[in-house]
Amino acid sequence: MNQDRLIYLDNNSTTPTDPRVVETMLPYFNQYHGNAASRNHPFGWIAEEAVDNARNQIADLISVDPREIIFTSGATESDNLALKGVFEMYSRKGNHIITLTTEHKTVLDSCKKIEKMGGEVTYLEVNREGLVDLDALRNAIKDTTILVSIMWANNETGVIQPMEEIGKICAEKGVLFMSDATQAVGKVPVNPKEVGVHLMAFTGHKMYGPKGVGALFVNRKNPRVKVTSQMDGGGHERGMRSGTLNVPGIVGLGKAAELCKKEMADEAIRLAALRDKLEKGMKENLEEVYVNGSVENRMPHVTNLSFKHVEGEGLMMTFNQNIGVSSGSACTSASLEPSYVLMALGLGDDLAHSSIRFSLGRFTTEEEIDIAIRQVTDGVNHMRDLSPIWEMYKEGIDLESVQWTEH
Ligand SMILES: *Cc1c(COP(=O)(O)O)cnc(C)c1O
Repeated sequence: MNQDRLIYLDNNSTTPTDPRVVETMLPYFNQYHGNAASRNHPFGWIAEEAVDNARNQIADLISVDPREIIFTSGATESDNLALKGVFEMYSRKGNHIITLTTEHKTVLDSCKKIEKMGGEVTYLEVNREGLVDLDALRNAIKDTTILVSIMWANNETGVIQPMEEIGKICAEKGVLFMSDATQAVGKVPVNPKEVGVHLMAFTGHKMYGPKGVGALFVNRKNPRVKVTSQMDGGGHERGMRSGTLNVPGIVGLGKAAELCKKEMADEAIRLAALRDKLEKGMKENLEEVYVNGSVENRMPHVTNLSFKHVEGEGLMMTFNQNIGVSSGSACTSASLEPSYVLMALGLGDDLAHSSIRFSLGRFTTEEEIDIAIRQVTDGVNHMRDLSPIWEMYKEGIDLESVQWTEH
């Protein structure tokens, strides 16, 4: 299948690797193939130098010390290492972790595992905007709390949490603050030290780098944070993550970080304008279109829209031969369940099922947005034309009051 003419608006799932990143990686597959841990010959030295350079580029993007970067296979591993690693390392201090119901599955599933290992986890609800309730957070922290884990930006809605306020509360209470910043790093300014984040996960393939490589920032001073390794072996990465370093991947992540640092500010402005154009176009063309999550506190390239009385998966099928997006009826299971993130916003089955996430990226063009507005509009109109529910709605029947018969 040729995807060259298709329109990709699913950058929160994964971003294309920037060609400049690919080019930088290539020599490290065969020309410079050394093991960065081979300390006794030039093959190893060259690989190590490349890794050091990448570590600096990444540290530079998030304003931390390069020694605070632990390379992993991606954000899933970084989240697991942070959560389980802190749980094990700080077991004498306590066993309680606080997180949000709207976190990525990797955080939620790590927390479930921690509960099985004897931990206690509080899952805080979010408000209609998708934001954490700071008072609820403060009240949830107790003597046994060792860690608060709150994502920087949500993958489904793009909603950005009040990181600075959360950091203040954690500092006040003397608990560690970890953040899954996978969706924020490289797209908006992210500075963990400035907001009091002690551990932070991110990944290459959400910031125009390669798949299969990511990092965990671990604060080194005030406080000196340590995590118990989950991968044991040669003691790489200061003993926190063993395994031969993925040199081409790391070089790619480094280059991606350098490019993001340079281009992020302009890119955010350009994408916000395109995103707003998309949103405005949909709202002008169609009735009953809703933006899900906070409009003020969100990523510049994301919009999550509900098209009332239209089933999202079905709608998607009207244009997914040409346009790649995600629907809010996540296929996390065989059955079509509405997204737990949207349900947590209080959306209700109906609106959650009718949602589509559009996530723009570095290679999105204005022409593509124009086409998307047209095709999605046509799709929604088509679905609504066929829908008895829509007809009832247009006739002014109060759908809430209809007594549906059970079969
Ligand atoms: C994509 C994503 C992950 C998983 O990252 P991988 O590198 O694919 O393991 C974790 N958290 C969030 C918020 C994500 O968007």
